[in-house]
Amino acid sequence: MTVPTLPGLEPVPTPAAPPRPGSRAARMALPRSVDVLKEIAAEYGVCVRPLAMRRTDLNTGLTEVIDLPCGATREDKCGPCAKKNRRLRQAQIREGWHRDDEPLPPPEPATEEQKALILLRGHLEFSRDEASRASQWDQVEDLDDAIREVEEAITAEGLRGRVAPPHTTGDDGQGDEDNGRRRKRSTRRRQDAPDLPRRKVERRTVGKTYTAPDGTTYRPSMWLTLTLDSYGPVRPDGTPLNPDRYDYRRAAWDAVHFPRLLDRFWQNLRRCEGWNVQYAGCVEPQRRLAPHAHFAIRGTIPRDVLRTVAAATYHQVWWPAMDVQRYTLDRLPVWDEQASAWVDPDTHAPLTTWTEALDAIDADPDAEPVHVVRFGAQVDARGVMPGTEDAERTIRYVTKYITKHTGDVHKATTDRQRRHLDRLWQELQITPCTDRCANWLLYGIQPKRAHAKLKPGRCKGKVHQRDTLGIGGRRILISRDWSGKTLSDHKHDVRAWVRALLGVSVGLEGVDDQGATVEPVRYAWELARPDDPDIGPMAHRLLRAIGERARWRSELLAAKDRAAQLPDPASTTGTDGTTGEKL
Ligand SMILES: [Zn+2]
Ligand SMILES: [Zn+2]
Repeated sequence: MTVPTLPGLEPVPTPAAPPRPGSRAARMALPRSVDVLKEIAAEYGVCVRPLAMRRTDLNTGLTEVIDLPCGATREDKCGPCAKKNRRLRQAQIREGWHRDDEPLPPPEPATEEQKALILLRGHLEFSRDEASRASQWDQVEDLDDAIREVEEAITAEGLRGRVAPPHTTGDDGQGDEDNGRRRKRSTRRRQDAPDLPRRKVERRTVGKTYTAPDGTTYRPSMWLTLTLDSYGPVRPDGTPLNPDRYDYRRAAWDAVHFPRLLDRFWQNLRRCEGWNVQYAGCVEPQRRLAPHAHFAIRGTIPRDVLRTVAAATYHQVWWPAMDVQRYTLDRLPVWDEQASAWVDPDTHAPLTTWTEALDAIDADPDAEPVHVVRFGAQVDARGVMPGTEDAERTIRYVTKYITKHTGDVHKATTDRQRRHLDRLWQELQITPCTDRCANWLLYGIQPKRAHAKLKPGRCKGKVHQRDTLGIGGRRILISRDWSGKTLSDHKHDVRAWVRALLGVSVGLEGVDDQGATVEPVRYAWELARPDDPDIGPMAHRLLRAIGERARWRSELLAAKDRAAQLPDPASTTGTDGTTGEKL
């Protein structure tokens, strides 16, 4: 097309000429079919990393391989599954938020058999205590076996939860562990009660109804954001104005203990308000990389009450003092096999044990908590009316980032942001995550249940990882009596809704439907290995799933059209309604 010229002799001509057909450039411009396949799979909500399960029909012996969705909750693992999970979370929030009845009726009374079993368990506990006082260890062992059996029977009788925590047998975690002796928490290390009015908490979880003069009733709900304190002024990009004066240490500790602070907030709020306030929300990083939390609250609470409770709420960390870092990563304490303790590398003197350190706090009348977490002054709260676009928008907002890793919510794109993240991470690496964290060794203290394998600075605790920003726990926080349903209950609801619409009597599982005519089919499931001969290549499996989904989607649309022409049977059963796809 153009005559070749020596480079640099002429200005580059014709910038936008299409590549020569058949050239490498032209080939590279064509979309890759594999990518398109993945794209379409995502569009149709088909899992891109399905798990192959081999299902054997126990009546006929026929075997079939079925792809189950991987169920990932993060987009970087599987977009379609993460989106599906987000939709379920949205349904869960929507369903609990404005409800006007109690989601969970009180449990049924216990049967005589159940009571008898608990009584028996009580007798065994008494005998075990006697035997252990008399140091009759073989009897204790027998009684432990009996206790285990009774507890199994208790579960089998249909009682929920454990009667009592298991007995710890003295041999694990020897050394500084409180051998059998329950450590009594001294009054000094107890959490002080906040300065708030206290009422008895009613069982009620539903908010107040307001009646307008014209008789219409309103049951508004709330939306609340809680943030942490300031660690120093920041720029709009989240980085500190003065990195040297930004309090990274407090930022790290606050992030690690934020979940406990939130727990205490709800506890205080319930006591102050006198009813069992319910919430659903999430913990997300702010641009400055400190966590904050958004909550949907059922019912209304005066804004100044929320502010007062937030201001009065704190969480004290009663851990050993650690003002001085006595060891560094290149000069660490060493494990002394004989003493079975961590010792100073030079003097070989054993480090303070966890128990000794706590005893020292108890004995010191002037001891103070090593850290206190509080909320920042910024508490945003507003009312939300059920069924409004505002309510929907808020639900989308709460769930906006739940498919992302904490570290991916605000990606560092400038050097300044990367430096900020690094400084915070450096601090998180040496912050103790729990009382058993290896980092305690840096401060000359053997953590609880110390053992030879501890590696300071390399603790596996989630909060030390760079992309958690110290937010190590659950990020979705939903109180127990929110919708009265678990996520899989909600999943089941969605399926039941689609099935009702399609008029399918036996679902994919072929188990739980009441299609009385069909013989109940019993299946055995096993995980198939990717290299098993009956597992096709991934591309084939994806294509098949997409084909199935496309057909199924058009059937669903047709069924919806038919349903729309009928005189509205139960239009409220819907979930997210709009498109019933992507189950
Ligand atoms: Zn998936
Ligand atoms: Zn740790």
